[in-house]
Amino acid sequence: MSQSYDYSPTHRAVEIASIFGLGVALGFIGYEVYLGLAGPFRDQALWLAPLMAFVAYLAADFVSGFVHFMGDTFGHENLPVLGQSFIKPFRDHHVDPRGITRHDFVETNGNNCIVTIPAALLVYFLVPARSELWANAFAAFSAWLFFWVFMTNQFHKWSHLEEIPPWIAALQRFKLILGPDHHDVHHTPPFDKYYCITTGWLNPLLYKIRFFPTIEATVRWISGSPEWLVGPEDDGSKDAGAPGASTNPS
Ligand SMILES: [Zn+2]
Ligand SMILES: [Zn+2]
Repeated sequence: MSQSYDYSPTHRAVEIASIFGLGVALGFIGYEVYLGLAGPFRDQALWLAPLMAFVAYLAADFVSGFVHFMGDTFGHENLPVLGQSFIKPFRDHHVDPRGITRHDFVETNGNNCIVTIPAALLVYFLVPARSELWANAFAAFSAWLFFWVFMTNQFHKWSHLEEIPPWIAALQRFKLILGPDHHDVHHTPPFDKYYCITTGWLNPLLYKIRFFPTIEATVRWISGSPEWLVGPEDDGSKDAGAPGASTNPS
């Protein structure tokens, strides 16, 4: 299916390069982890890799929620550099939730790769995965985290599709990835909760402890809520942190 995009060709090129680059970087980190597991840690740490995959899955859900919260809450579309490329997609998504279903693979996943790649390079060059046990575990965790972050907006897109392949529907039904009903809670005004979009597993907990409203209130208090930060369109409705009128989080 051929699809078009309506953002700058330069950003498009950076997205494509980042998707390839992240794939290569994950391959290199994975190879370093393998060298450690097949070498010095052969008899002691094989269980670490799958454990790290699971811990990283939880961490990715948290990261997805945090970045999504930042994109929804602070700044506005006219900010230089970040505005058009990173903040606008978050705002557009509330106005037109099904817009994401018209995005191709590059537009859906490119931005996540752009922000992930610097961290992946740092891990590859700075973490001695093949010689230190802690470093091997950390590199495995990081690689899995980058991979799950990469998958996050794909899971998010699937949660908005009307027709999905049965195997994806099964993953959603078993709550292994973000499900449409769960994600609907976020798309209910005032759009101030259930920001996590990898699996959504952390949403009930973060909602209960008022994690995001507390951060928002703190930032507003410290910064004095300048217009460039909270955006001219913000009417303060998120301050109340009230549950949506028609959808109860569960
Ligand atoms: Zn949102
Ligand atoms: Zn959504």
